[in-house]
Amino acid sequence: MSEIIVGIDLGTTNSEVAIVREGRVEVIPVAPGVRILPSVVSVADDGTLLVGDAARNQYVLHPERSVRSIKRRMGEYTAVQMAGKDYSPQEISAMILRRLRDIAEAHIGEPVAKAVITVPAYFSDAQRQATREAGEIAGLEVVRIINEPTAAALAYEHGHGGARKALVYDLGGGTFDVSVVNLESEVVEVLASHGNNHLGGDDFDQKLIDFAIAHLQAQHGVDIRQHAQAMARLQQAAEAAKVTLSDEPYATLAEEYLLERDGLPIHLSLEISRQHYEEMIEPYVAETLEAVHVSLSGAGLTVADIDEILLVGGATRTPLVQHRLEREFGMQPRAEVDPDLCVAMGAAIQAGVVAGTQVSAVLVDVTPYTFGTSALQYVNGEMYPYFYVPLIRKNTPIPVSKSEGFCTVFDGQSRVDINVYQGEDPDALNNIEIGRFTIEGLREAPAGNQLITTFSLDLNGILQVTAREKDTGLLQSITIDNAISRFTGDKLAEARHRIDGLFRDQETGADGRSAAGAAASPVDDSRRQRVEAAALIEKAERLLATAGTEDAEDLVNGIEAIRDHMDGPDADLKTAMDALADLLYYLDA
Ligand code: AMP
Repeated sequence: MSEIIVGIDLGTTNSEVAIVREGRVEVIPVAPGVRILPSVVSVADDGTLLVGDAARNQYVLHPERSVRSIKRRMGEYTAVQMAGKDYSPQEISAMILRRLRDIAEAHIGEPVAKAVITVPAYFSDAQRQATREAGEIAGLEVVRIINEPTAAALAYEHGHGGARKALVYDLGGGTFDVSVVNLESEVVEVLASHGNNHLGGDDFDQKLIDFAIAHLQAQHGVDIRQHAQAMARLQQAAEAAKVTLSDEPYATLAEEYLLERDGLPIHLSLEISRQHYEEMIEPYVAETLEAVHVSLSGAGLTVADIDEILLVGGATRTPLVQHRLEREFGMQPRAEVDPDLCVAMGAAIQAGVVAGTQVSAVLVDVTPYTFGTSALQYVNGEMYPYFYVPLIRKNTPIPVSKSEGFCTVFDGQSRVDINVYQGEDPDALNNIEIGRFTIEGLREAPAGNQLITTFSLDLNGILQVTAREKDTGLLQSITIDNAISRFTGDKLAEARHRIDGLFRDQETGADGRSAAGAAASPVDDSRRQRVEAAALIEKAERLLATAGTEDAEDLVNGIEAIRDHMDGPDADLKTAMDALADLLYYLDA
C-alpha cells in the first residue's frame, strides 16, 4: 500500500482537505454533509480552542478572542493577538491545518503525516516558507507546496492529456486571482498571474447590504449600522440573497424583527432583481476583466491563444461573471468541477502522484447539452419570436435548477406558450424542440406581467420545466423524461445534418446570433408565418369585444379565413393574413 499524503487547500476564508483513495479523489467531510472548514480560529469562554464554524460564530461575539483571514499575514514577522496571547501567523495557520489533519485521520482511520499544501501563485518565498512551517507545527511534513491555479488545472485536466493554455479565474470570498497556465502532459506551468487581494464575493454582499441600509433609512428612519447584531443578521441575509440570485431572477432580503424603533418591531422585506444586482456588482466584474488582460499580456498572449477558461472560487457561480468571460473570450468557461473544492482536489491529485498512486480523472455528472426556451427579442432591428434563451448550459453539474424572468408582450395577454429546446443556436428554431406547453389564465394586466420559468434537471436526466406568474403564483409545468439521452446518436446527427443543409452557402455575419436570426430558412419562414397568423387572430379576437356589429362580422370572417388556410399553402395563408391585417389597421386607426 502506498503512503498516505493528503492535499490541503489552505484558503483565506475557507479550507478543505482531500485524498485519493482507490484512484478516486475524495474531499473529506469536516462535518456530516459539509466539506468546507471556515479558516477561523477562536478561544471559547472555557479556554477551548475552536476551529471552523464554531470559531466563526464566536468571531461575531468576541472578535478579540478570534482570528480570521490569517493567510493575508503569512510571511510577516508579526504577532497576532488572540485572547490576550501573541501568536505567529504560522501558529494560527497550524491550528487550521491541525484540525484538517485530525479530520482526515478520523475519516481514514490511519495516521496522516504528510501533505501537499496549495498557495497563491503570487506568494513569495517567505510566504511559502511560512506555510511549510505551519505544516510542520501541525505535525505534517509538507512534501510539496503547489500553486493554486496549478492545483485547479490538475483537477480539471488530470487524465485528459493534450497540450493547451488555460486561464484560471479564481474569485473567492475575499480575493481574486487570475493565472495563465500551460498544460503539457500532466505538467502545469504558471506563465503569469495577477489579482487583487481585496476583491471577492464579500464585496458583492456589501453592495446588497448598502442597498438594505439605504432602504431601512428611507422607509423606517433607522440607521442599522448602529446595531451590531442586526448588522450580522443582515450580512447573512445578504449572502443568502446573493446565492439565490445566481440561480433565480429575483431574491428577497427578508428578516423578521430585525430592529426595534420606539418599541415597535421593524421587519425587512426587500426584493431585488438579478438585473439590479448585476448593475451593482458590474464595476467589480469589470475590474477582474482588466486583471485578466494584465495577466494575458504578462504571459505574452492574447485572448485568442487561450484554449480553456477554468473557474475556481465560490463567487464564480455568479452568472454575470460567467457571461462577461464568455463574451470576452467567445467560449463558455468550464465550471463543472465544484469551484469551492477544485483546488483541494488538485492538491490531492498531486499528493497521489507524489505517493505513486494511480489517480483517475475527476468525475462529475454534467449535462452534455444546453436546454433553454425562446422569447421575443429585437434581432437586427426586427422583433423575432424565437430568440433562444439558454437556462441550463452544457457541462453544468447535475442536479441543477435555474430560473429566468420573462414578461408578457401585450396588454391583457392571458396566455403564454413555453417552448423547450435542446441546443446551442441563438435561433431557437435551429435547436431541437423537446417539449412545449401553455400557461393560461394569467391575470388581467398591462404588457410586462412577469413570469418566471424554471428548468430543473436531475441525475436521471428528467427535465422539469415550470412557468409561474410572479404576482399570483399561477403555475404550469411539464416533465420531459430522458432529456439527456433522448437526442443522442443518430437523431442528433440527423438534425445537425438537416440544419447544416439549410445553412450551407449562406453567409455568416460577424456575430453568429444575428446571422442566424436574420438568415431564416424557407422552413422557418413558413413556421414564422404561422406564428404571425396566430398573433393576428389573437389581436382580432381581442378587438371583437369592443367592435360594432358590422366590424365584428368582418373580423370573424377574417379570422375564419386565416384558420381555413392555416394548414394550406403559404401563399393562400398570406392573402388571408393581409386581408385581416388591413382590417385591423383600419379598426385601430
Ligand atoms: P471561496 O472563498 O472560494 O470559498 O468562495 C466563497 C465566496 O463565494 C463567498 O463570497 C460566497 O458567498 C460565494 N458564493 C458561494 N456560492 C455562491 C453562489 N451560488 N453564487 C454566488 N456566490 C457564491
